[in-house]
Amino acid sequence: MSGFKKFVARYAIPDVASDIRDEFVIHAAQDVQRNARWLFFFLFLTTPLAILAGNPDVPWLVRIGMPIAMGTYCLLGFLMLLRPIDFASKPKAAAHYLVDSSISSCFGAIICSTWCVLSWLYAPVDDRLQFPIILVMGALATAYCLSNVRIGAIANLVIDLVPISLLLLMSGRMLDFAAGCSLLLAGLFQLHMIRTHQRHVLELLAVKKLNRELALTDPLTGILNRRALQDFSEALYGDDAPARLLLIDIDKFKRINDSFGHDVGDEVLVTVAQIIDKFSGNNISAARLGGEEFAVLGTDKDLPAAKAIKLLADVREAEMPHGGKVTVSIGIAEGWLNSNADWQSLYARADAALYEAKNTGRNRICHTDEVESEVDEGHADARPADTRAA
Ligand code: GH3
Ligand code: MG
Ligand code: MG
Repeated sequence: MSGFKKFVARYAIPDVASDIRDEFVIHAAQDVQRNARWLFFFLFLTTPLAILAGNPDVPWLVRIGMPIAMGTYCLLGFLMLLRPIDFASKPKAAAHYLVDSSISSCFGAIICSTWCVLSWLYAPVDDRLQFPIILVMGALATAYCLSNVRIGAIANLVIDLVPISLLLLMSGRMLDFAAGCSLLLAGLFQLHMIRTHQRHVLELLAVKKLNRELALTDPLTGILNRRALQDFSEALYGDDAPARLLLIDIDKFKRINDSFGHDVGDEVLVTVAQIIDKFSGNNISAARLGGEEFAVLGTDKDLPAAKAIKLLADVREAEMPHGGKVTVSIGIAEGWLNSNADWQSLYARADAALYEAKNTGRNRICHTDEVESEVDEGHADARPADTRAA
């Protein structure tokens, strides 16, 4: 962005937390795009009326040339916006769009304002009040359209309303003075509404963000929940590597609750969750599924099976709030993810492997291959030596 555009961007985009700002910018760009299409269309329809309202004393270039220039600007704008730009997940493109819209709308405002001022100056005193009336309609409509881009709305209102209002105020006629005052008041009220509107949009986005966080976070441990894990599984659809899922269950957790109470049990859950959450990041997601069950999901590249051995050891060695140690059992499965059915199948296979780990003594890792080969070949114990209980 050039220095001037950066300056505009600073005032066009509110200074709020970056994730809310990104959402705001995308929302604002989509909003401007939607509204601007119709604004251009209706302003285009106004141009013949502006020509009709012209006075023969006004030079041809102002009376007809300027409305035609404005009509052409609106027609081009309307045609350009017929094919909408998709700003979803593109905050940078949206920010550029907002800045460009703010700047280009000022050109339209300059044409309209110049037309109004020159028409006013050339037309006879008794035959000129129609010019500010036509102008103010366009000015207020444009400002409304830019209500999420405050700097653009303010610039349009100032360019459109201030010059003609000053002429009205200084014309020495009471009627003009009243009209000038009401133009300025309408502009100020519009600014107030724009300010309030933008504040409401930002508040709604903040609430939306909070709701999303609450919906995806496990309240006890603060790590992601089952729903978030499912969302992450969808993000892996079509990845160029198969997904790997680790299902983790604390061994004999009920005993801790029974011996030390539910609150201490909760603290143990939080401690285990923190250990498991250390494995998240870098395209890997860790979540509490419920109770004393957790999961880690990633592609087989990002989440090598060796990480499960490390996780098993990390939990086993950690000091727990009840003063003892806990162990976990882990079931592992891999599979390509392209649909919810794939996810269900991956989950079911990891769950079967976890079941196998529980049935064969706990404190160990069991891989889905072992479960499947056992089913296929009737093996009694197909666990690899390095994943057996220490
Ligand atoms: P296993 O090795 O077979 O998994 O045995 P386990 O005792 O861990 O499993 P079981 O399913 O018998 O018991 C799980 C216990 O977890 C029972 C339930 O009261 C407890 N639990 C579930 N959610 C919570 C929770 O949020 N806080 C606490 N403190 N306990 C919970
Ligand atoms: Mg358990
Ligand atoms: Mg369980």
